[in-house]
Amino acid sequence: MTLKITHLGSGSKGNATLLSTGDNNILIDCGFSLKQTEKKLEIVGLKGNDIDAIIVTHNHGDHSNSAERASKRWNAELHCNIETAIKMGWEPISTCRTFNNLDRVECGDEFSFIGVPIPHDKADNVAIITNSGKGEKAAFLTDLGEATMELKKHLEGCRHISIEANYDQKKLFMSSYPETLKRRISGRGGHLSNFQTGKILSEVMHSKLDSIVLCHLSEKNNAPHLAESEILYHIDDNYNGDIAISRQEGPEFSHYLGQEDKEKIKVV
Ligand SMILES: [Zn+2]
Ligand SMILES: [Zn+2]
Repeated sequence: MTLKITHLGSGSKGNATLLSTGDNNILIDCGFSLKQTEKKLEIVGLKGNDIDAIIVTHNHGDHSNSAERASKRWNAELHCNIETAIKMGWEPISTCRTFNNLDRVECGDEFSFIGVPIPHDKADNVAIITNSGKGEKAAFLTDLGEATMELKKHLEGCRHISIEANYDQKKLFMSSYPETLKRRISGRGGHLSNFQTGKILSEVMHSKLDSIVLCHLSEKNNAPHLAESEILYHIDDNYNGDIAISRQEGPEFSHYLGQEDKEKIKVV
């Protein structure tokens, strides 16, 4: 089974990633407006009603914005952990299906995921590790101040990793942001810098990692060329796969996991 991964867009103004297995279409996060999300889906030839499930990683608006309304309008299952459901005021069973962190959740016939807790502000954020087809794993993680040992264990063996590269350290510290905000962004509950992301990737690198997508780049404190060069500095010698950047205005490309031929990236 092929898993098609398409970032509909990523950044502080909204996040949504589409996973298509052929039979099922699943969104990780639904942080754009309903209208914007439907427009983005239309670009990849889908309607809202084609979405079977929405997984919300945490309660922040750029990840959860239209999730409840979309789930009702499209008749799609809404998944999140119990803590996020409480923060969102979503009623388990009638509004959403809650999962326990680290429990495997079956979603369709050949697709399952687990939510791995990651530190981020006062949110109960999770990295989503998916499993499809012949046990091929993919990881999706944004909005974390650092990678825990547990998370790194789950990243091992993933064929695809979408990970945030939020800020360039120099740019953030030189910015006009107040000191408290700089400390919050760079702290344990904040976001990953390009340097941290590069280091994490170098630690979990293996020969079968096919594709990396850098997400959630800060518009003010980062730039695509800075993120890409910093990450490549850390992983270059050991990595032969694709590296791409998901910007706010997606979708721009898809990755295919579990495909036999060499073609893994296409412009949408
Ligand atoms: Zn967040
Ligand atoms: Zn975010």
